[in-house]
Amino acid sequence: MKKKQFKTESQKLLDMMINSIYTHKEIFLREIISNASDAIDKLYFKSLTDTSITLTRSDYAIFIKSDEKNRTLTISDNGCGMSADELENNLGTIAKSGSFDFKMENDQGDNVDVIGQFGVGFYSAFMVSDEITVKTKQYGATEASMWRSQGVDGYTIEPCEKETFGTEIILHIKEDTEDEKYSDFLKEYKIRQLVKKYSDYIRYPIKMTVTRQEKKEGTENEYETVETVETLNSMVPIWKKPASEVTQEEYNNFYSEKFYDYQPPLKVITQKSEGTATYTALMFIPSHAPYNYYTKEYEKGLELYSSGVMIMEKCSDLLPDYFGFVKGLADSSDLSLNISREMLQHDRQLKVMGKAIEKKIKSELLKMLESDRENYEKFFDAFGLQIKYGLYSDFGMHKDMLSDLVMFKSSKENKYVTLKEYRANMPEGQEAIYYAPGESISRIDMLPQVEAVKEKGYEVLYLTDDVDEFALKMLGKYDEKEFKNVTTEALDLASNEEKENLKKENDENKDLLLAIKEAIGNVSDVKFTSSLKNHPVCLSSGGELSLEMEKVLKKMPGAEDAPKASLVLEINLNHPICEKLKNLYENDKDTLAKYAKILYNQACLISGVTVEDPSEFAKLVCDLMI
Ligand code: ADP
Repeated sequence: MKKKQFKTESQKLLDMMINSIYTHKEIFLREIISNASDAIDKLYFKSLTDTSITLTRSDYAIFIKSDEKNRTLTISDNGCGMSADELENNLGTIAKSGSFDFKMENDQGDNVDVIGQFGVGFYSAFMVSDEITVKTKQYGATEASMWRSQGVDGYTIEPCEKETFGTEIILHIKEDTEDEKYSDFLKEYKIRQLVKKYSDYIRYPIKMTVTRQEKKEGTENEYETVETVETLNSMVPIWKKPASEVTQEEYNNFYSEKFYDYQPPLKVITQKSEGTATYTALMFIPSHAPYNYYTKEYEKGLELYSSGVMIMEKCSDLLPDYFGFVKGLADSSDLSLNISREMLQHDRQLKVMGKAIEKKIKSELLKMLESDRENYEKFFDAFGLQIKYGLYSDFGMHKDMLSDLVMFKSSKENKYVTLKEYRANMPEGQEAIYYAPGESISRIDMLPQVEAVKEKGYEVLYLTDDVDEFALKMLGKYDEKEFKNVTTEALDLASNEEKENLKKENDENKDLLLAIKEAIGNVSDVKFTSSLKNHPVCLSSGGELSLEMEKVLKKMPGAEDAPKASLVLEINLNHPICEKLKNLYENDKDTLAKYAKILYNQACLISGVTVEDPSEFAKLVCDLMI
């Protein structure tokens, strides 16, 4: 019989499949099963109008049989089957599917990825087989045909015997190599696992003949081989069931099996959308961040299904970065199974889905914040940092989406407070939202400026993460109130009368203050303040850049060029130290210089700024003691 050659482009694809180094060769089974399911769909839909087809829905099934001895894996269906011509057209030429066009354009490129993301249909079976036989017969036809190929050198088509209608695909599995144990694909456990992983939600039963050794009836220890047929797939996806029919436990089990997390999720989100984008989504908020969450290795994304068949494991377009912690899937009947990654990126449908999913996640988080505070705080402990990065990123573009989701600890109690709550608690006369950045809650709580603001009866947000202040700066305002760092000199809590007095003191003691500034050397200003309570001094920053921001910038790559905060030493006008300083200025300028240094270093210590010369500082203090 004459061997026919594959069309050129099919040849190329075949080559690629046969020599594939792709590590997920297992997807071939998904491809073959999906084809079988499509073929059954075709016959089923035809039967809806064609009364000569006397099948009911429950008659349809896909069968898998493995023969380890002969190394064959047979997948058969009772779908529409193919005529000899169709066989020629369908398997002699590769389908004009999107993934294939893409592949041709990227011939030199990253083919491997394309296989993984979308599969390339029937030919992917050549990744694991050295010979493929397809026997097929259309419903109602008398003749059957057989297609056979060992790959590159072409294929044959001839008539054959086949009793039942439908298609039977016999894969002769490759011999094992050092790198690849192809025999695994003949093993029952592996087949089960693959069906569960990729095709669990195929609408028709996927049955497998399994053989068991069973004791012969009436004998002591004689065994016989018994064949039974099992259905491997659950058929109805959990996300297609109404949420009211699924128990929390079922969702939790599904989550832990699918996403390998043994701690139950904090929240299950279900979404069914119709209209511009028709899809169902099932999402989970994990209770803790995966170990690699805040690293480059972490890949966000939802699984993407097209009518129950998984087409992409991590579709990142469905989740914005700041909700990258969400696990789950989306299933749409509007997407083509053969759509390529390239096309998917531009897919309007996917964009619409992504937007709607983002909104849904936000509204569910807000709901949780309102009605399940305890879990929301757990969520925020795990992923709050991500939300704050989200506020800061893209020049604050997402602030409307995120500003109501952030929380900070505050001076009130050691508890989280949202911006909305803070705003609602603001007493009359409070003009700004106060915050103080620092290394830890306890250190911030000790800052002189915090003490002063608390004294006024105002709440202070405690910012302990590096990104916090940057995020608030990006936000600028919340509900018309500006954010104010209490450790900047711009903090202005004084009454008019106090202000006048302060100005007078500062003017009258200009020379004293200048002398102190010169003794210290690296502060941009020294001045009296009336906003401190018990502390003699504090360090604040002059310009836009706060001390904490400077510290964060210093930690980043290229830190040598990082801008520096301008430091201002503020001296408590109501503290006895003032009189002492004035006195020294008149009588003992040397001691004044020493005092200036000591006070400055004290302020540094309190603000968590490194003391530049600790031994000088220690010596100065000791000199005072003796
Ligand atoms: P695709 O499924 O993307 O069209 P494939 O290479 O997987 O590409 O299959 C090519 C064609 O072969 C299918 O479009 C279908 O018409 C036909 N085909 C494949 N498997 C079967 C089957 N089990 N029953 C009937 N037709 C099939």
